[in-house]
Order: sequence, then structure tokens, then C-alpha cells
Amino acid sequence: MKKSRTERNDPLRDGYSRIIDYLRLSVTDRCNLRCIYCMPAEGVTPWKHADILSYEEITRIVGIAAGLGVKKVRITGGEPLTRKNITFLVRSIAQITGIEDLTMTTNGVLLERYAQELADAGLRRINVSLDSFRPDRYREMTRGGDLEAVLRGIRAAEKAGLLPIKINMVPVKGLNDDEVEDFARLTLQTDWQVRFIELMPTGSHDFWSPDRYITTDDVRKRIEAIGPLEPVKVRSKGPSRYFRLAGARGVVGFISALTHHFCSDCNRLRLTADGKLRPCLFSETEIDLRSALRGNADDAEIGRLLRLAIEVKPEGHTIGTRAAKGGSVGCGASGAVARKPMSRIGG
Ligand code: SAM
Ligand code: SF4
Repeated sequence: MKKSRTERNDPLRDGYSRIIDYLRLSVTDRCNLRCIYCMPAEGVTPWKHADILSYEEITRIVGIAAGLGVKKVRITGGEPLTRKNITFLVRSIAQITGIEDLTMTTNGVLLERYAQELADAGLRRINVSLDSFRPDRYREMTRGGDLEAVLRGIRAAEKAGLLPIKINMVPVKGLNDDEVEDFARLTLQTDWQVRFIELMPTGSHDFWSPDRYITTDDVRKRIEAIGPLEPVKVRSKGPSRYFRLAGARGVVGFISALTHHFCSDCNRLRLTADGKLRPCLFSETEIDLRSALRGNADDAEIGRLLRLAIEVKPEGHTIGTRAAKGGSVGCGASGAVARKPMSRIGG
């Protein structure tokens, strides 16, 4: 294990006493799918390669963040497995002293090819985003995705020991919400963590609408028709609340970004692929680390910018208040809605 660049200090706390020890790294804004709620059909004009942080730049930032108290890193995107030689980055981050947990969120399309080498490089676990088990519907929701490839990827991840497998499902009313019960039933036979994520109003293509949005409470009621849900403690400080169906091997989780704010427990910072630190998913405030890195800033200056991002982290967002009432949550002047697609922020 290499030494981190600075001595580890007391945990980093923001202005609301939350400990910030989790960094989500978006390593690319590119993707091999076009999920209907994430980006428009034509995609989003990709950033130029020179605008994207290099692996050396990302590793340097993580090293400094680890010295300040960051313990957990998730690699995301865009689709992280589309970035060339991603295993190199995984190995570099896994070797940083202080990083105790290294995970990835992927659509799983290329996972079959990479699962074993990611595990060998030090990746601990994987979240696979999967919204339907019906090949035609999966293809429609992802605009072209091959469900079989994702299922092979999940099996490869299991074989490689990237456990427990977490599945992220975004229920969309009228599209795939009739599969909620099937997804929950999967936990009866597998030890997967199946997490239902509320549709969020991100991006500028206005997919979100009250007609498509389904609340966690509604999803939960449908699952409770299968059987009662027992709350369970899962060793994870994330935004998901977990439950178990009687006799199930796995658990179901709910990530209710809109209706049950998890802001009070938020422990994360995001770094976009073009090097902006984003203290909150739903705030447009960004701190430009790339200019600092490329302007020869020393580690102390990068550390200062990381602390600044934590200092300006807002207490919470307000979009749920409007959404829960069935109101419009289009991009308003309040800045409460993420105007960039998730593929650019790093979901
Ligand atoms: N491409 C990878 C994937 O799909 O897993 C990683 C990036 S993707 C932006 C991360 C997660 O964000 C996915 O689970 C996806 O379902 C979720 N996501 C994207 N747009 C969303 C939205 N508008 N509402 C809720 N979840 C969204
Ligand atoms: Fe790509 Fe992930 Fe967005 Fe789907 S959700 S378009 S897989 S970045």
C-alpha cells in the first residue's frame, strides 16, 4: 500500500456537521446506451478528450481527498466501462492509502469482459443499472441495449466476487412499473440488493413529468402486496433504506431522492469528468479543480478547494416538495433541478 500524500486529519465535516467521506467520480460523459430518462435520443455532444481529467489527474485528486478523510470512492459516468483502460484507474485508486471501499456503477453492457480484471485490480463491488427483464422493453428504454449482454455481465461479476450485486431500477409509470414486483421477487432466490430509484428531474430534455413519476411509497405498496417488508440494517451509509421480504436471501432498497430527502445523511462530493467538484447533485454550484490542476496548483491548494466544496455544500434540495404534490419540476430559476444530464454529473 502506498502512502497518501498528506497526514489523515479528523473527519471532514460540512457546515451542517455531516461527515464527508465519499467521493463519486465520473470518469467519462460518454455512454454506449441512451436511456430515455437520462439523455436525449441523439445523445449529448461529448466533451473533448483534452477536457476530461486524465487518470493521473484523477488519482492525484483521490490521493489528496484520502489524506483529508475520504474513504469511499465510486467510479461512474457516463458509462465508466467505455473509457479506455479503466482497470488501470481502478488499480491506481485501490492502492491509495485510506481508500477502504472502491465500487462502480455501470450499465453492465461490457461487464462480462471486464468483471474479473476489475476485481483483480481492487474493485470491491458493482451496481448494475437495469430497468427491465423484458428484452424488447429493455431495448426501448435504453434505446438499443442488449439485455442478454447485461445478464451475462452480472453473472461474470458474481463469479469474480464483486458481491453483493446491487441492481438499480428506475420505475417509470406506464413503461416498466409493472415489473416492480418481479424485481422484488428476485431477492427471494438471490442475495442481490434490488434498489428502486425515484425518477429525478435531471437534464434539459424534460423527460420527468408527474405522469411518469412514481413515488417510493407507491412502489413499496406494490411490493408489500407480495408480503410484509421487514426493515434491515445494511452495512452501507448510502441513501438507500433497505427491507427484506419474509424468507428472502436478498434485500430491496428504496432511494427516494424526491419524497424522502436523504440530504441530512449526505456524505458525498461529486467530481465530474471535466474536473468540476459538485457539492450537491441538485445544485449548479461547481468548483473548478481542472484549472487548478493544470495551473500547477500544489497539493495544499487542491486540498483547499476540496474543503471549499465541502464548506459550500447546501443543507438540502427542495425539488421533492413540488414533485410530491404532483407539481411541475421543470428547470426553474431556483436552481433546484440538475440542468445537466446524469451522464454528465455522474449519477
Ligand atoms: N452508465 C452507468 C449506469 O447507467 O449505471 C453509470 C451512470 S448512470 C448516470 C447512474 C445511475 O443514474 C443509473 O442507475 C441510472 O439509472 C441513474 N439515472 C440517470 N438518470 C436518472 C434520472 N433522471 N432519474 C433517476 N435515476 C437516473
Ligand atoms: Fe448511459 Fe447510464 Fe445514462 Fe443509461 S443511465 S444513458 S447507461 S449514463
